[in-house]
Amino acid sequence: MKITVDRTKCEGYAKCVQAAPKVFQLDAKMIAEVINPKGDSDEKITLAARICPTKAISLEEEGTGKKLFPTE
Ligand code: SF4
Repeated sequence: MKITVDRTKCEGYAKCVQAAPKVFQLDAKMIAEVINPKGDSDEKITLAARICPTKAISLEEEGTGKKLFPTE
């Protein structure tokens, strides 16, 4: 799964870090970054994207580029 954090939208709530701590961490500016895209299960990563209050996380299927989150 390809994970993208829109750093202009992220406000450092760290919900994603709670949901998938091996995938996301906050950097020195308190903005989320991806440390290991395969660190947690797809379920946890999807939950992280869902609960992000600013909808800063988007997910795509590896290879096909199909949008997994957000979906229109
Ligand atoms: S949950 Fe969203 S706003 Fe909060 S740190 Fe993660 S990406 Fe940023």
